[in-house]
Amino acid sequence: MKTNIEEKYIATLIGCGIGDALGMPIEAWKKGQIKKYVGRITDLIDPVLVKDKNGNLLKEDEFGRLKYWGRDLSKGDYTDDTILTLAIAESIADKKILDLTDICKKQVEVYDSLRKPDGKIRGGFGKSTREAFEKIKLGISPGPGTGPCMKMAPVGLYMHATGKYEEGIKMSRLISRATHLDERSIASGVVQAHAISQLLNEPAKQEFLDSIVNTCTKNERQQEYDALPERGNLSSKLKWVKENQDAPDIKAYAILGCSSLVFEAYPFTIFMFQKYWDKPIEGLIETVNFGGDCDTTGAMYGALAGAKNGMIFPDKWVNELKNSEKIKALGRKMYNLRR
Ligand SMILES: [Mg+2]
Repeated sequence: MKTNIEEKYIATLIGCGIGDALGMPIEAWKKGQIKKYVGRITDLIDPVLVKDKNGNLLKEDEFGRLKYWGRDLSKGDYTDDTILTLAIAESIADKKILDLTDICKKQVEVYDSLRKPDGKIRGGFGKSTREAFEKIKLGISPGPGTGPCMKMAPVGLYMHATGKYEEGIKMSRLISRATHLDERSIASGVVQAHAISQLLNEPAKQEFLDSIVNTCTKNERQQEYDALPERGNLSSKLKWVKENQDAPDIKAYAILGCSSLVFEAYPFTIFMFQKYWDKPIEGLIETVNFGGDCDTTGAMYGALAGAKNGMIFPDKWVNELKNSEKIKALGRKMYNLRR
């Protein structure tokens, strides 16, 4: 029996939030640090704060630095990935079209609303996204971050709902460019919008991977990268995934990486998603436990898994996710764009 489409729209947004909330407590940690201090992430938990014998937060260990991006948050909270995804979904649901000005406005509004008295921003906003929002009015945008792909799922829902595929491709590019100028980041936003819209049609795995690589190759323009040009482009990384579908996870991790650089986090997410094609929850947990930019890899994986499979997420997670009723309502509004 086919899962109903409305449920998949809802699950795309809920999955984004759940994957994000799973990774939030240990964002940017190394795999070894997760293992040492948590064991294994299998549920939504509070941010993990490691203290030394004097009660101070431990800043470094044998694996490297320890960061606490989620320290102001609590169990079930999601971060910038979902905050911005929901801002874009709200714009689309309100306007019923892709209105670039409104999409930017809603993102900047939610960003500004999270400013604390000390000037810092709540929600674990990554450096490149933070810089972009500070500078967005000047039109200056930074390097190869995951900003575009982490928030582009609603555009994929719009493309599927309205049948306006080409408009969605074009707009996902412009939405990406509003915050990120690196072609690898821009292409990641386009590919994620495409991926969500395609998964709702239940493609076979090979068909999915072929289309991901084609979409990336077509949309990743030639550019002299300002940052890390030696690290190559996104298309070549996605091609590697397509050609090494059954590689051991640890090998994919060694080759692709899963840091907050878009040419690591995005292909790694796609690798894990296709590898665990029929075991999406297991794959999501594995992905988050690889650490790195794991709230973002979790959020992107969760959105892809929701679009493909519907509400497969354990009830416990859905109930513990903050604002889950609001997110479900937004998913329904996105579905109603089909009318
Ligand atoms: Mg985040």
